Amino acid sequence: MKTILVTGAAGFLGAHVCKRLLADGHRVIGLDNFSTGFRANLVPLLDHSSFSLVKHDITQPVDIVADYIINLACPASPRWYQADPIQTIKTSFLGTLNLLELAQKRGATLLHASTSEVYGSPFEHPQKEEYWGNVNPIGIRACYDEGKRAAESLCFDFHRVYGTSVKVVRIFNTYGPLMSVADGRVVSTFVAQALKGEPLTMFGSGLQTRSFCYIDDLVEGLCQVLWSSEDVVGPLNLGNPYEVTLLELAQKILALTGSESKLVFDPLPQDDPPQRCPDITKIKTLLGWSPVVSLEDGLARTIEYLKGEISHVQSPSFSADKGIFKQGII
Ligand code: NAD
Repeated sequence: MKTILVTGAAGFLGAHVCKRLLADGHRVIGLDNFSTGFRANLVPLLDHSSFSLVKHDITQPVDIVADYIINLACPASPRWYQADPIQTIKTSFLGTLNLLELAQKRGATLLHASTSEVYGSPFEHPQKEEYWGNVNPIGIRACYDEGKRAAESLCFDFHRVYGTSVKVVRIFNTYGPLMSVADGRVVSTFVAQALKGEPLTMFGSGLQTRSFCYIDDLVEGLCQVLWSSEDVVGPLNLGNPYEVTLLELAQKILALTGSESKLVFDPLPQDDPPQRCPDITKIKTLLGWSPVVSLEDGLARTIEYLKGEISHVQSPSFSADKGIFKQGII
């Protein structure tokens, strides 16, 4: 039994990761500042004798005894990370610095959640880990993209300078139950609009591509990286290489929900990447991981969950007028 500190525990990925680690028999300390995550996501875990919950902001130093730290704390949807861009970049950089210092002090391993956004608007396709990316350093997505890039640099500098045990994964678009309908991510937005009979909002032509990984596959991949040997440092792409255009995604969602909603087209947000698809050869070769849930199956499970959610949409705790509140998709 290991003790694992999960930051961002009340978020979409965090709640699933905590649940899985508890089911596997570990002690889990969930940490969150509840800025974009919801206590409701953790309610089923609160009575578990091996689970505890701490309210904390990782931009402040933290001292908790743990064998492993999984850093998932950071708003992930453009709508929410652009609402308070300075807090977003502080969370990525200062937050990761604080957790690396904790890992160093306590001799823990830090598994850091980076993102496919480090590839920006890629000139190489699909994206391999060796690709350095093409990111606008001053655009409206930079608080997230550059924050995550700087956080990766910190992880590797701590590893090289102090020998800190780190593992970095670059997560591609993930979807599934517990996604918030309010966060503007494309799967939950399209599903909610289809279920309500509203037009589906398509940004740009819809010919841009994304690759969607179902949450169960993602959590399995994260766990395999967590328990991998110390020399598996990464970065490792973690995502589903099955690539669809957003028009195809919309058509699948309309078919699965039986909705007759039409599409409305809005301008593409600034710096929205035209193509996104992971090359997962590295993690497949090293750990044998690859996703198993098809897009149709994953969407069907997500639709079932969101049917129960659209009547009581929760909003995050930050105020939208703190910064630019731009709709966007990842
Ligand atoms: P989410 O917004 O649902 O969850 C993030 C959680 O972190 C929330 O509970 C939020 O309250 C918490 N948080 C934010 N700032 C914090 C801070 N300063 N201190 C403490 N807690 C803080 O997002 P998610 O989809 O669960 O993503 C989790 C992680 O995975 C993020 O780091 C994100 O960058 C990464 N990621 C996710 C995706 C995806 O498709 N979901 C893709 C790439 C990377």
